Amino acid sequence: MSTLEKEQIISDEKKYVIGTYGRVPVVLVKGNGMSVFDTDGKEYLDFLAGIGVNNVGHCHPKVVEAIKNQAETLIHVSNIYYNVPQIELAKKLVNLSGLDKAFFCNSGAEANEAAIKLARKYAKANGKEGEIITMEHAFHGRTLTTITATPKAKYQEGFEPLPTGFKYIPFNDIDALKAGISEKTSAIMIEPVQGEGGIHPADNEYLKAVRKLCDENNIVLIFDEVQCGMGRTGTLFAYEQYGVVPDIVTLAKGLGGGFPIGAMVAKSEIASAFTPGSHGTTFGGNPLACASSAAALDVISELLDNAVEMGEYFKNSLKTLEEKYEFVKEVRSLGLMVGIELTFNGSDIVSKMFEKGFLINCTSDTVLRFLPPLIVEKEHIDAMISALDEVFSEI
Ligand code: PMP
Repeated sequence: MSTLEKEQIISDEKKYVIGTYGRVPVVLVKGNGMSVFDTDGKEYLDFLAGIGVNNVGHCHPKVVEAIKNQAETLIHVSNIYYNVPQIELAKKLVNLSGLDKAFFCNSGAEANEAAIKLARKYAKANGKEGEIITMEHAFHGRTLTTITATPKAKYQEGFEPLPTGFKYIPFNDIDALKAGISEKTSAIMIEPVQGEGGIHPADNEYLKAVRKLCDENNIVLIFDEVQCGMGRTGTLFAYEQYGVVPDIVTLAKGLGGGFPIGAMVAKSEIASAFTPGSHGTTFGGNPLACASSAAALDVISELLDNAVEMGEYFKNSLKTLEEKYEFVKEVRSLGLMVGIELTFNGSDIVSKMFEKGFLINCTSDTVLRFLPPLIVEKEHIDAMISALDEVFSEI
């Protein structure tokens, strides 16, 4: 595609698409494994994987095959009928999660909406008032309820009045949480690794202590694994590494192998608070998304060892940069969920890395974020680190 066509696409986007995204001026037209390609055929190594969407890599052949086969068979009818891929996917997720029942939707925000609604319905049936506690610096989505669960002014301002019944507590602080709960508290929602908040993994013993607190006070524990789940941290669910199982887990992003799908998986006692008519969505659990997701889950299971090994290699490589450059404040990671905190805003570094052919981004202003596909190899990491070293050396 010529440059003119690229310019045309960018100006058409400005004219026809509502401007909710600050986009990088590139039009990506093709993806394969670790790589994506723009309209000029330039290749980029994707160290973001669509912010944790393409955990299996771009256009993984097994996912593509599953989508093709399903598209030729049945795309969707309606949730008023049964469909095979939905039930098969629910079985897989239940077997893998240690939980009992799944509900399907189309995004992370929707999965969190479902979790909050379910937790409230369950709590109210047990005489509680429905207050939900979430963590400072959390991110749970962009619907009205999930921006309320996300205690950051930039997401909330201008959208008031917001739903009531939310309370915010500092993350990784069990004493603050103990002090913050009350008779009203129905659920606590936590990302085991905060993503948008700047790649902050939960402390080792923190989630266990939260689990205990929830058990003692009949509070529903919800883990939002939309970003940190699906093999991202080296286990299918991040919570496996903490030796804790939540009452509800929410999933999206990597769950579909690139195809949109969200899920909420819950313990059956809690799940039974939803009965026919309580909740639903037209496209949730459609055969096409579920077939893609089932294939992605199989692929992810085979990539977990690589995610652990490459996560370790990545972290150690970044530590050399941490030692070399004073402006690197901290390297934080769990598996292939990796962040480098700088002493300044990282957006110029993101742009320079882009020019060199690497997709990364910056979150919470000062944290460079890396979420490569789980197929990443040493040579990709080495190439990225040496480009980053060059960019850092010019500062
Ligand atoms: N929860 C977390 C932890 C997320 O990182 C995100 C997306 N960044 C969401 C929820 C929202 O997911 P979606 O954009 O699919 O609605």
